[in-house]
Amino acid sequence: MKAALFREYGDASVLVYEDLPDPIAGPGEVIVKVKACGINHVDIDIRNGSSRIPLKLPHVLGMEFGGDIVEIGSGVEGWAIGDRVSPIFQIHCNSCDMCARGEHQHCRNIDMLGIQSHGGHAEYVKVPAWVLWRLPDHMSYEDAAAAQTSFCTGIHALRTRAQMQPGDWVLVNAAGSGVGTAAIQVAQHFGGRVIASARTDEKLDKAKALGAEVVVNYSTQNLTEVVREATGGKGVDIVYESVGGDILRQSIDSMATFGKLVCIGCHAGEIEPVDFIHLFRNEWQLIGSARSRFGEIVEALELVAAGSLMPTVHGVFPLAQAADAHRLMESRGHTGKILLAP
Ligand SMILES: [Zn+2]
Repeated sequence: MKAALFREYGDASVLVYEDLPDPIAGPGEVIVKVKACGINHVDIDIRNGSSRIPLKLPHVLGMEFGGDIVEIGSGVEGWAIGDRVSPIFQIHCNSCDMCARGEHQHCRNIDMLGIQSHGGHAEYVKVPAWVLWRLPDHMSYEDAAAAQTSFCTGIHALRTRAQMQPGDWVLVNAAGSGVGTAAIQVAQHFGGRVIASARTDEKLDKAKALGAEVVVNYSTQNLTEVVREATGGKGVDIVYESVGGDILRQSIDSMATFGKLVCIGCHAGEIEPVDFIHLFRNEWQLIGSARSRFGEIVEALELVAAGSLMPTVHGVFPLAQAADAHRLMESRGHTGKILLAP
């Protein structure tokens, strides 16, 4: 099969389009022919080595994808050749203490597609049958490839970790990114009021179209001032943050009493001084949120299938042009998910 793989860590040029042996389904496994696969920012971090996740090279990225079953291993029931599916990317062991607590994102033996195992930057992927999610007829492969990570991250961060309540003001930073466009929708779905921030008016127009009540262009406006004005001086109840730097500092200054900052990523490797006087006087919470529980990923797919959440797709690149797709993501010139299609 063809795959976009890398044999060494580095910039996008290390991604090469080459042949790999076709995967073979073992007991309990199926082979999925990939029709569309999403690119996530973590793919960039893994490829350039900054994630420091140990990998066996060559590696094939690609956490979330949609496709067809083309081979079925022994002992698999309930699935047929040709079934349209999207495998849940986060495969847990179901026997460790974290799995027993339902916190599958911290499974001691976690095996994520595109990270510990080869993923969807390829024509075929081998997956255990128990992680397959059946794609309804009306749901496209592209929507499936864009639905899992962004929306489940939003659901886990906002509802589970930050305990968002209807009516809460939620500041979504990086509103033009895949996670940002998803978080705007998730916050609204659970009754939140959204202030979206990004660095271009084009991304903010999209955020408005997705339902953000207030938008802030942080390349020309002071985030804290706009937030205070929009919320009658009170500030936001929740900050959904992954940008870092000045935006992170201005976001903390924008929080209401009892405000919560939920951090879902820090690709700049942030180390920030925090004023603990403000922290305790305002009873703020700084909360980390990493991926999500298995059921939250399924919920994300079901909400997309129901039309309650809509993936934002920037564009689809041929798999052979995976390096160009990575460069586009690194340039941050996109709004929504970038997909690859073999
Ligand atoms: Zn486990």
